[in-house]
Amino acid sequence: MELRLTQYIEELAKRSPAVHKQFYPSPLEDEPDEQAMDDPLGEALYHAAPGLVHQYADRALLLASNKCFAYCRHCFRRLWIHNSNNSPPSNLPPSNIPPSPCGRGRGRGAYVAYLHNHPEIKEILLSGGDPLTLSDEELRSLFADIRQASPDIAFRLCTRAPVVLPSRISNEFVAMCASFKPLRLSIHLNHPDELTSECRHALSCFVNAGIPVLVQTVLLRGINDSVDTLTCLFRQCLSLGLQPYYLFQLDLARGTKHFRVPLEEGLELYDRVKEGLSPVPPYAVDLPGGGGKIRLSKEIIAGIIATEKGRFYQLRDKDGRLWLYPAF
Ligand code: SF4
Repeated sequence: MELRLTQYIEELAKRSPAVHKQFYPSPLEDEPDEQAMDDPLGEALYHAAPGLVHQYADRALLLASNKCFAYCRHCFRRLWIHNSNNSPPSNLPPSNIPPSPCGRGRGRGAYVAYLHNHPEIKEILLSGGDPLTLSDEELRSLFADIRQASPDIAFRLCTRAPVVLPSRISNEFVAMCASFKPLRLSIHLNHPDELTSECRHALSCFVNAGIPVLVQTVLLRGINDSVDTLTCLFRQCLSLGLQPYYLFQLDLARGTKHFRVPLEEGLELYDRVKEGLSPVPPYAVDLPGGGGKIRLSKEIIAGIIATEKGRFYQLRDKDGRLWLYPAF
């Protein structure tokens, strides 16, 4: 994955090793990783229309853009999100090709029709890439088309813009978002160093406009894998009126092995964070291969098995099915 930064992140990375590690490449990305997957979440299995992933009955995900302002080295869509031609990588077998982003207007009729014909979808997540790489007008038109097709649908706008380019957030943009309530903002935030005064200001604009801000954090080796760091991060979020929403176990994307915290270690860390803080977000993993999101606890570990690819935990989902996650 190429290096891509905003000037803002370049400056912040000079002061923060935790930010530096998230955005600057490491030679460790080239280490062999037998357990890595091209589509770790199995999104290709749920491709319903161009750019649309429908995995959970009551919500769907729209890949609104394949661009980001800065590229996170731990990105789970890293293989295909940064293609300049908006197409998935050509070297993947068809069953492993994630859906392409819908881009500017491309395929809009198909996914809008799909949403219209599936009233059970109550929330649409706009993700990517970063949907805020679209212009305000493009986003407004996207919101309007979707709302017209499905009048009661709620929006969840998933972005890293307040963290990597806070100047992208203007009062006009926030007012436009507020005009499409119910709408929630979902941000990806991993370390207290990312909560600069600029970032706090950008987030406060949403909070003050009555737009709930959900925080998703990825557990990353050498960045936030300590009780103090996570506690400090969640505390600061709560004091800013943000909702710590999920702490995620890292997905099995290629080139990210050096960021992975073993599951058992993650569970112990999480228990210690819980002892000192309430509320804490659930600790969860997207089950590799399309099993969906599952909350992690020692109780769901059914056992450990050895395969030719190494040792794996067997995780039991709510329907009793077993899924594998590497035991390092
Ligand atoms: S902002 Fe999200 S989609 Fe973009 S590079 Fe980072 S993790 Fe990947």
